[in-house]
Amino acid sequence: MSNSLVGQRLAQVRERLTASARRCERDPASITLIAVSKTRPAEEVRAAFEAGQHAFGENYLQEALPKMEALADLPLEWHYIGRIQSNKTRDIAARFHWVHALASLKHARRLSQQRPGELPPLNLCIQVNISGEASKGGVSPDQAGELAAEVARLPNLRLRGLMTMPPAGSSKGEQHRIFAALRQLKEQINTELGLALDSLSMGMSGDMETAICEGATMVRIGTAIFGPREPKQ
Ligand SMILES: *Cc1c(COP(=O)(O)O)cnc(C)c1O
Repeated sequence: MSNSLVGQRLAQVRERLTASARRCERDPASITLIAVSKTRPAEEVRAAFEAGQHAFGENYLQEALPKMEALADLPLEWHYIGRIQSNKTRDIAARFHWVHALASLKHARRLSQQRPGELPPLNLCIQVNISGEASKGGVSPDQAGELAAEVARLPNLRLRGLMTMPPAGSSKGEQHRIFAALRQLKEQINTELGLALDSLSMGMSGDMETAICEGATMVRIGTAIFGPREPKQ
């Protein structure tokens, strides 16, 4: 995709974000746009940066690391949004600013131990599988509070909130229900555990309006900015 097209599509996505925030009486500035650059080359990330984009999301470490290397001259904020594997936590802890799909205490302990001392705490969201889909990562809503309480005690980490994804092809009503459930779960965890979670990572290209109306503070947008991805080889 040409670089000017990336800039144009980014501007369209920002307009969508602003319009849906206004429609739901929210401040657009309270919602961070994360450009999901998985499978896209470093030049497209650079083009998005030149068009004003700062936060980028990646799912696959082996792809992300060389890309981050190639863009090391830019002040980018990197979000690891993929599934975490134990043998990858060292690089995740060293290279990223945020992790969105935490689903186990074991991974949290490793990230905490492996976060380099000279870096600020690693920001984390716990992924919650609201719909109960078997193929989805994340903890069940019942387990989220217990995991949050444990993670909040670990050093070098800063537990910020919750993340979820509705099943592919779910109806608008179903999306609303799932996003609202995540918002309520965050409020419940804050009240019951005395935590101060401030983030809801929810909303992708196809459902960002719904997520924003239900309180998303971070939307993770790939296709609407960079175009359709090639199937993963
Ligand atoms: C790929 C991906 C996205 C972006 O999805 P689009 O539909 O392309 O916007 C967001 N979140 C996660 C976890 C992803 O894997």
